[in-house]
Amino acid sequence: MFEKILIANRGEIALRIHRACREMGIKTVAVHSTADADAMHVRLADESVCIGPPAARDSYLNVPSILSAAAVTGADAIHPGVGFLSENAAFSDIVEAHGITFIGPAASHIQAMGDKITAKATMIELGVPCVPGSDGEVHDLETARSEAKRIGYPVLIKAAAGGGGRGMKVAEAPNELEEAFTMARREAGAAFGNASVYMERYLGNPRHIEIQIAADNHGNVIHLGERDCSIQRRHQKVVEEAPSPALDAAERERIGKRAVDAIKSMGYRSLGTFEFLYENGEFFFIEMNTRLQVEHPITEAITGIDLVRLQIQIAAGAKLPITQEEVTFSGHAIECRITAEDPVTFQPRPGRVTDYHAPGGLGVRVDSALYGGYAVPPHYDSLIAKLIVHGANRQEALMRLKRSLDEFVIDGLPTTIPLHQRLMKERAFLDGDYSIRWLERDFLGS
Ligand code: ADP
Repeated sequence: MFEKILIANRGEIALRIHRACREMGIKTVAVHSTADADAMHVRLADESVCIGPPAARDSYLNVPSILSAAAVTGADAIHPGVGFLSENAAFSDIVEAHGITFIGPAASHIQAMGDKITAKATMIELGVPCVPGSDGEVHDLETARSEAKRIGYPVLIKAAAGGGGRGMKVAEAPNELEEAFTMARREAGAAFGNASVYMERYLGNPRHIEIQIAADNHGNVIHLGERDCSIQRRHQKVVEEAPSPALDAAERERIGKRAVDAIKSMGYRSLGTFEFLYENGEFFFIEMNTRLQVEHPITEAITGIDLVRLQIQIAAGAKLPITQEEVTFSGHAIECRITAEDPVTFQPRPGRVTDYHAPGGLGVRVDSALYGGYAVPPHYDSLIAKLIVHGANRQEALMRLKRSLDEFVIDGLPTTIPLHQRLMKERAFLDGDYSIRWLERDFLGS
């Protein structure tokens, strides 16, 4: 097992990884920008190294700085967390070339799944159902027109290197295609340095359902059920729950097995997530994430499995400690993503936390790096806390979530807690009767 892990991230996810390391008796190294010198992940780690100025490209994305920090502290593995360098194949390659273990899959798998066109082609080959769409990249407007005609409107133009909902544009009808195509390419180029796009049928009212898998280096693969992440704004997840209110055990087994079989054929190792859209009883693959997911705690809640510990064990060469038959699902879990944003306009509004009180009690977990007096820096993602509740059933989880939101105090800056409190009163949400469109179209009315 590793003796010391460098955590190449910040905020709640850095803290989450630190906690797993501590429980495994592994020392931790925090890296931080000058803006994060006071951050909780720095305070709790065994050692810390400043890796650059506030801008992420100069610090959390600064590969030479991170490698030097690992060398200076003698870390034998690097955990990339979520975002930043977590899906950067070149980073994982260079880490391994320095004799340090990258906690994640092989670089070739990060590369292949990071390009959504390659990912879809791979899945089609492996018999995983995908959203009907273009045959690979769409290079020009003329091809876009003929492909759209073949696929049928409305169509979605998506960035091959996409992430975070960027570089994605809908064309409802032929007269919208030119603008959508041009905008998607421009946005993709600016966000990812890669303007390649492809096209898919724009599904009307699907749910976003994803399958968590875990695979070791010895050919063993399991799935840990699904997460329903249909409560979204601008294609970004806001609330997630497990299990999905829309699936039964037979459907879970069916899609879980599909994902496991695909992973086995790929020879993939580590954690991974298959993201699907689910409409009229059918699953359509959209992408695979080759890293830990923000919403992993709801899977941990219903399976009792520490996913970060598992990920570290796999990276160290261990066999999966359980078989598929030994995986059990218990109760229901829901996660609310709380951001430092205005709850009505969603404008990021970082500031200083004047008072902080996290909810507690049975079945309540808060993953957050906040503390009283902490100034949320303006340079990074606005996620400041994840509230995760677990109950014997969905009803109990909902009641627990409601009372936990009422207990949660984050003063000094606006947060989206009031948005979540309003959601808890909505019939459609309480009934689990929603699609990926519901939050924006029916609840926020935009
Ligand atoms: P990203 O990597 O940018 O997050 P994804 O491919 O994972 O992009 O899609 C993000 C979200 O966008 C999905 O959860 C869904 O809400 C929406 N979406 C993606 N593809 C489609 C599609 N073909 N039809 C309808 N909605 C889609």
